Parts: sequence; C-alpha cells; structure tokens
Amino acid sequence: MTLIAIDLGTTNSLVSVFEEDGPVLIPNALGDFLTPSAVGLNKANEVIVGAEAKDRLVTHPDRTYARFKRYMGTNRDFRLGRKTYRAEELSAMVLRSLKDDAERHLGKPVERAIISVPAYFNDVQRKATYAAGKMAGLQIERLINEPTAAALAYGLNTLSDENTFLVIDLGGGTFDVSILEIFDGIMEVRSSAGDAFLGGEDFTDSIVKEFGAQKKIDLSSLSPKSMGLLRDLADRAKRELSSKEEVGVKFKLGEEQIPLTLTRAKFDEITRPLIEKLRQPIKRAISDAGLKADGIDRVVLVGGATRMPIVRQNVTKLLGLFPEHKIDPDQVVALGAAVQAGLVDRHEALEDVVMTDVCPFTLGTDVSRKLGEGRYDHGAFQPIIERNTVIPVSRVATNHAMEIGQQNVSISIFQGESPRVKDNVFLGKIDVALPKKQEHHEAIDIRFTYDVSGILEVLVTVLSTQKTSRMILEGNPGSLSQEEIEKRFKALEKLKIHPKDKSENAAVIARLERAYENQLGHVREEISFRLSQFMTVLEGQKDTDIKIARDELMKWLDGIESMDIF
Ligand code: AMP
Repeated sequence: MTLIAIDLGTTNSLVSVFEEDGPVLIPNALGDFLTPSAVGLNKANEVIVGAEAKDRLVTHPDRTYARFKRYMGTNRDFRLGRKTYRAEELSAMVLRSLKDDAERHLGKPVERAIISVPAYFNDVQRKATYAAGKMAGLQIERLINEPTAAALAYGLNTLSDENTFLVIDLGGGTFDVSILEIFDGIMEVRSSAGDAFLGGEDFTDSIVKEFGAQKKIDLSSLSPKSMGLLRDLADRAKRELSSKEEVGVKFKLGEEQIPLTLTRAKFDEITRPLIEKLRQPIKRAISDAGLKADGIDRVVLVGGATRMPIVRQNVTKLLGLFPEHKIDPDQVVALGAAVQAGLVDRHEALEDVVMTDVCPFTLGTDVSRKLGEGRYDHGAFQPIIERNTVIPVSRVATNHAMEIGQQNVSISIFQGESPRVKDNVFLGKIDVALPKKQEHHEAIDIRFTYDVSGILEVLVTVLSTQKTSRMILEGNPGSLSQEEIEKRFKALEKLKIHPKDKSENAAVIARLERAYENQLGHVREEISFRLSQFMTVLEGQKDTDIKIARDELMKWLDGIESMDIF
C-alpha cells in the first residue's frame, strides 16, 4: 500500500513520496509543487482547491477560505454556500486534492499518509489532523513534527554525535522556533517558542504602509479590492527584493496607474521593528531549553519568509552560526516527511518525541480603543497567554475603563491567532460592575491561568476596590467524535469537487480576471479580448488546442505581471 507524505501548511501544502533515490515532491495538476491551502466554491457550487481558490480570495472573499489550519480542533464554522464546515473538513478537501495529485502522478491508488504538524500542536489539534486525514480517505500512519521533518531533510538524524538543532520557521503569518535534540536515534523537541502574530505578511504590511506614505495615499479610504491589489503588489516587491536591490511596481487606483518604488536599504529600515520582534522567541527557546547560543550545533531555516536576506543576516548575527538553507525553505518539511515515510516503510522510523505541555492557542480578550471624541475601534484582540507558551501558566493584563463614570465592563474571552476578535473563537464573557464613584478611568486586572488539563481560569479584579469575578472555561471545546468524523467523511465524499482536468483552465481564467482588476487601459482591453478568445477555444473542447492556448496565456500573463517600471 503506497505511503505518501504531506506538509499540510497554513499557506501552502505539498505532497511527496520516498523513491529509491530519496525523497521527491509530487506536482499538482498545474505542475506546481505548492498547492495553496485555500478552498472555495465556484459559480456552479463545486468545491475548488488550491491556486484557483486562492486567486478568488480577492475577487470572491465571501466564498473562499484560507489560513484555516489555525482553527483545527476548534468549533469554529466556515460557511461555504449553504453548508458550514469545520477546519478539519476544509483541510480534508486540501488533503484529498493532494491525494488525487499523488495517485495521478504515481499511477496507483494511495491509501496511507504521514502528515506534518507544528511541534506545539497539542492533543486536540493532533486528533483533528488525524480526523482530517480520515475524512480525505487516508489512513494516517503517523504525524511528524514539522521541525523534526526539516532536520530529517538535512540528514541531521544520521549525525553520530549527540546534537542540538535550532529550527526557525517564518511562514506567512506565524513564527515558530524549536530546539531539537537527537540522541540514540530519538529526536526530542526540547523547547518551542514563537509569535502567533509575526510572519512574512507583516513585512508585506510594512511595504503597503511605505507605499501609502510615498504617494500620500489614504490607505483607510481604499476599497477592499484596491487594498487587495496593493497588498499583492507589496508582496511581489518583497519577494523581488530578496534577490534585487531595487524594485518598482504600478498600482492601479481608479483610472490612474501609480508607479511605486522601493530599495533594499529602505525595506531593511522600515522592517527593523519586525526583526527586533524575531529575536525574542529565538532567545526564549534557547533559554527554555537551558542552553546558551553556543550550545546550538546547527540552524535550519523553514518557511518562505526566511528567504529575506535581512532575516538570515540577523539569525547569523544572533547565533554566530550560518543557517542551513541549501534546501528550498518551502519544500524542506515535505521532503523531510518523505524521508520519514521511507524509514516507516523500512520499519526504521525515527522516533519523534512530542512536547504537549504547551498552550496550543493564543488566549486573550477583546479591547476597544478610543480613537477620538465619540470614535471607537471595537473588536481588537488582546493576547494574554500567547500560543506555544509552556504550561501551567498564569499571565495578567491591566486594562482601563474607556470612560470615567462607566458603571460596568464586559470582557469577552477568545482563542485564536487573528488580530480581530471576529475571526477568533469566542469562549465566554464576564460582566464586571465598577464602583459608583470614580475619579479616574478604572483599572482592571485580567488574569488568565491555563493548566495541563486544558482548563482556563479567568480572574478579573477591579483594582480600586479589589473586588474579583471568576470564570472557568474549557480551553479546548469541540473535538469531533468518531461517529461525527464518519458522518462528515460520508458527506464530503458526496460533495461535488470541480474536476481536476478542468482546474488548469479555471486557474487561468481566475488569473486573467485578477490581472484585469489590476490593470488599466489597453492592457485591460487585451486581457478581456484574450479571455473571450480562451473561452471560445474551451468551447471547441479540443484538448491539444486548449493546452496550446493555455500555455501561451500563462507565458503572456507572466510577462504582464512582472512588468515593472524600470
Ligand atoms: P509559507 O507560509 O512558508 O508559505 O510562507 C509564505 C511567506 O513567505 C509569505 O509571506 C511570502 O510572501 C514569503 N515569501 C515567499 N518567497 C519569498 C521571497 N523570495 N522573499 C521574501 N519573502 C518570501
């Protein structure tokens, strides 16, 4: 029975297999190794997965989801058309798509898989990953910690001496640092630290702000679509700056094309605060493992955002070691998971010790901010215990009532990794009365205590009176039962999935539509013309003609998308 390995990522997923010569990646129907972990519904209400869905995040944000991995094991629902799904089911759709790709590529059925998960995933999240595999019709042979997989890809398991590795994973939205130790063929995660609110996207945001400042564009007045376009351009500029000293892009705003430029030096300057934030978790992971920087033997880089030269330089400076980056940081986990698959098939699998005594989700409250007289921003998330913190843990935050004389405050408690509470999971609410007579904005301490059994205690103290209110919450609501998994598996099997052979064409159409939004004038007209032409070729239903037209369009799109102003 064929065994594949899957890196089920927050932004992208990959599938690989162990062949005679070693681990190899399997391309998807579009010929790419990276399948965006995005799921949506098309016009015909068929489920679409991957690049086609990702392209529609800008054009159809209400019918598309990405970044759902962070909700694995929670009871959050995602609405797609008339049905709602849990993160496990959306993940199952991605897994099924990867399974199909593997079967097509290998020419035989695939029944078993190894899936990689973050080292800090707790029991609930690991079970949710098993459930997703089952719903995709896969027997999950075992899970492998992502940093362990990265170390395996670099062959660090074959080193004869006892060794300590640091794995730095900077993805789109999250930053994870793990310290691994290998002895007697057992890999153990010694410590893990991270920042749930720090990733490549924050570097993109800095560029968006810089572009806004450069041309005095009021970013808050941009429509969601224009903002989406500007972010796309900023992301492209960021990627190009990893290999160039200067980049230029054109931003279409209304009927205008605005040229924007950025140098590497300016980029380094505007992202300095983010680099500063990167250093903290690295230091924490080292001290939590009871080590000093010179106790680290090797450093491995994972995640697309570690391609930024400024990130590498700072890691080198901080640790006095050159990080390993020979293997593509987007592929390293999938390749390592395939090495594990090879070992499993030979009954030599590397034992990978899991560290489960960490708080799996960020826990916090909602806060409102006063922006000016009578103007408030409600619904920001204030983390109190950050994801990945070793438990038991107790942390306190001090907040102030917004108005003097306010008679009560209502504190809502959330778990999740999004800066806005509406995107996180609501756990409960405490209403607290404030003293009748007040001279100042009343100060309130909110203490969160989280223990190994997943129980969260929230203690709120009004400082002037020392009156307390207490609430106990189950930190991990919503694990699926076996019957529920079975039921959802059957429902997913019946779901209409957009046929694979058509997804290449649909992806080209989605790309053309997105390019149309991004362009003006004659380029726009040309896109529209080429789109109609392609539709006509599709109607002809001749596979070879369709392939020629598609290849030509992709080449043309590559050209206009990389068009810069130099
Ligand atoms: P991941 O979650 O590992 O797929 O990481 C995706 C993040 O890496 C996104 O924020 C990308 O913009 C970023 N990224 C990918 N390639 C590059 C590059 N060449 N230079 C800078 N950032 C990159």
